[in-house]
Amino acid sequence: MSSEVTPFHFQGLDCFVKRDELIDPLLSGNKYRKLYTLLQTPPENFDTIISYGGTQSNAMLSIAALCQQKGWAFEYYCKPLSPQLKEQPSGNLQIALDLNMQRIETEDYTQTISQLQSQGKTLIIPQGGADPLAEQGIVILAEEIKQWQTEQGIKDLHVVTPSGTGTTAFYLAKHLPNTQILTTASVGDNAYLTQQMSQLGNVPSNLKLLEPMRKYHFAKPYPEFLETYQSLKQAGIEFDLLYAPLIWQTLLNHKQDIQGTVLYVHSGGLLGNDSMLQRYI
Ligand SMILES: *Cc1c(COP(=O)(O)O)cnc(C)c1O
Repeated sequence: MSSEVTPFHFQGLDCFVKRDELIDPLLSGNKYRKLYTLLQTPPENFDTIISYGGTQSNAMLSIAALCQQKGWAFEYYCKPLSPQLKEQPSGNLQIALDLNMQRIETEDYTQTISQLQSQGKTLIIPQGGADPLAEQGIVILAEEIKQWQTEQGIKDLHVVTPSGTGTTAFYLAKHLPNTQILTTASVGDNAYLTQQMSQLGNVPSNLKLLEPMRKYHFAKPYPEFLETYQSLKQAGIEFDLLYAPLIWQTLLNHKQDIQGTVLYVHSGGLLGNDSMLQRYI
């Protein structure tokens, strides 16, 4: 079943939002799409999934939900936790632990993860789900978008979605070759994002990286991000606090360069907002 598309008006921009955040609270947005292949995989094919990354990661939460559904063990490598977080896990970490995720703290994180290998019934999912495994689910997303575009009779379509690893934007661009895909780098700069994406193949020419007004550090609580988050919510849709504020701000700054219809693909991550909002208090 295709996720719905809603018209959205935000600070002078008339656009549409593809509501992938409504698919499932735990497996939401692009994480649902990226894990789609594994969601379709028979439980007996694997018994253990291993991944690694940040302690409040949305990918971590979604993989934990996937493993819970399938009855797979989930081992998650991360850097040592702060004493507070260890004593009282919150947000995505709390939910993932409740879903039976096994957290493995490692001092020599880089060294440890470089040695992880898929074998037998154990599968390694790279940080953020940046893996060719993600392609099949994004193909379906691309097909849903094409069908909507045809139904609406839209000629000039621009699809906007934020990037972490760039996996979602990369495969969207690959499978929507006649559409411009616009994204922003949330982690590192455009050069770093391009380098990340090129590990998946040649970066498609219809993929455009918008340049933010200034440099931001990932997952830092910037007051202007909270402001944008609140304005978006007032306009009618809740977005995530990590990726969405930056791309909406950047999109508004580039508004005059974009001719045609804008479709924002909601990337989910709403459960992560709790622990981010705490950091603004
Ligand atoms: C994971 C995530 C992204 C980044 O997706 P990539 O495919 O890694 O670029 C963007 N937005 C939200 C809310 C996410 O959770």
